[in-house]
Amino acid sequence: MSVKTVESVEFAPHSHWVGDGFHVLPLFGQKAFTPSVSPFLMLDYAAPEVFSPREQPPGVGPHPHRGFETVTIVYAGEVEHRDSAGHSGKIGLGDVQWMTAASGILHDEFHSREQSRKGGPVSMVQLWVNLPAKDKMTKPGYQTILAQQIPNIALPDSAGQLRVIAGDFADQRGPARTFTQLGVWDVQLEAGKTAHLPIPNGFRTMLPLLEGELTIGAKTYRQGHVLFFSDHGEALEISAKTKAKFLILCGEPINEPIAHYGPFVMNTQDELRTAVEDFRRGRMGHLAA
Ligand code: MN
Repeated sequence: MSVKTVESVEFAPHSHWVGDGFHVLPLFGQKAFTPSVSPFLMLDYAAPEVFSPREQPPGVGPHPHRGFETVTIVYAGEVEHRDSAGHSGKIGLGDVQWMTAASGILHDEFHSREQSRKGGPVSMVQLWVNLPAKDKMTKPGYQTILAQQIPNIALPDSAGQLRVIAGDFADQRGPARTFTQLGVWDVQLEAGKTAHLPIPNGFRTMLPLLEGELTIGAKTYRQGHVLFFSDHGEALEISAKTKAKFLILCGEPINEPIAHYGPFVMNTQDELRTAVEDFRRGRMGHLAA
């Protein structure tokens, strides 16, 4: 059995603010919105940051999306969402929000009112997952996935644990409903331990390293690195130099053109123009003030 090898590494040195609530590193760097990360599009990581108490929750006000899904995983604090399709939800530590924008929604994303009042650390990731052309204009959807619904698998040799948010791992299936074959796993590996993680041959595979140091082959990687593996191979072999926290993102690549403009991801420039026009004309719905 062959292991997937590290083919390249990204490191995003510059963080930016999304609204006034999320201070993020765009971890895919130059590879975001390219076939290299398919079926995913981009990944923002907000490392733990302490917010002072305030009445008005920080975050980002109404904005549209079309053609893909946004996945938010909370590592600290509590965030709230509501959208023009009538969905809303509040997620905290370990919870996941899987929002299918598809044909188009307007939504806002803020720290929860309670989180904002008491202040404290907030940390999360937001992953954008592409949709195949045939599903881009499907009905918007929304899944709140609470921590207790997510299988938490103990890795052999007390090496750590792996939460299966989407896809299959060790005969367990993650709760997220997806449009293509993919895996989103949230992993903690203990210092000095090694994990052997089976991943189908042909799956594009990325490892965003959120905390700690990992060794793969003879090389060491640190916090903020994203490792891109070969499609070829049936497993990852990863050792933790220090206690580490990372995601495994893997899936069948969607071999279709990617056209991206701001919050819209379609297949052609023409579809992007239509998206902008539909948004301006209020065809992506409305959010109550
Ligand atoms: Mn958004």
